[in-house]
Amino acid sequence: MKTPRFETRKKRKRLKMRYLVILFVFLFATGFFVGKTHSTSELPSTPKPTEKGDVLIPKFEAPITIESVEKDPVVEEPITEEPIVEEKSEGKVVYLTFDDGPSELTGQFLDVLSELDVLATFFMQGSNLKKEHLQENVRRAVKEGHYVGGHSMTHNFKTLYSDRQFVPEMKETLALIHEITGTIPRLVRPPYGSTPGLKNEKIRHQLAEAGIKVWDWTIDSNDWKLRGNPSQIIENIKRGTTTDREIVLMHEKPQTLAALPEIIQFYREQGFEFAVYNDAHHFVLNFQNDVDL
Ligand SMILES: [Zn+2]
Repeated sequence: MKTPRFETRKKRKRLKMRYLVILFVFLFATGFFVGKTHSTSELPSTPKPTEKGDVLIPKFEAPITIESVEKDPVVEEPITEEPIVEEKSEGKVVYLTFDDGPSELTGQFLDVLSELDVLATFFMQGSNLKKEHLQENVRRAVKEGHYVGGHSMTHNFKTLYSDRQFVPEMKETLALIHEITGTIPRLVRPPYGSTPGLKNEKIRHQLAEAGIKVWDWTIDSNDWKLRGNPSQIIENIKRGTTTDREIVLMHEKPQTLAALPEIIQFYREQGFEFAVYNDAHHFVLNFQNDVDL
């Protein structure tokens, strides 16, 4: 009697052990899978540090918009790969452009443009871009839909053209604009125009290699030397308007600010649309007639 009882106890013990092992395996397996699904659904993947290295931006939180994609710092990448498609407009188009900013007047220019619902193209200068108190209006310009391109660091004829610092200076200016606004502009306006400065083929070749585009103008308002004489600026522009696509050279000057509402009114009356430069729809506009710029 003793032996069988002992035997069954042993059997029970073995069965118990088997159940325990099965239970253990089961628990281990489910625990593993639950943990796995948990980790993919709730735990965020490690955010990658931005290139500046100081701020961690968890990418999964930011909704992907065109703006956020554009503002990713990707400066080292080749400047352009997409083909540029020239946008042919059906009617008359005018590009208002303002050089030499940012200045103490940038905010007031933006106010007038915003009030009259016009977008413009600014060419800003590095020495002014470096002034911190002017940077908020550079950001505002971009935020409100205007284009901000480069206009060199020094604005010095000899340095830019004789000493051939044009390309390095423009690269520096464009990088500054990127730092301030997050945009990646490719367009610059040569101080004093591309003639005679960019007659030098070597500089033009450097520009083309860097993917930098150059815009001169079709109408010179001569506003910078017409201090206190806004009506003459308006007159110059009216007289200069002869084709269906005009690019008007102006500066951030008080007399230009005073003339601006009437200039806008003139173009509206003449049936012009106001356009703003767009890297993706570049067209050639330089006195050198260089199709690579
Ligand atoms: Zn200038």
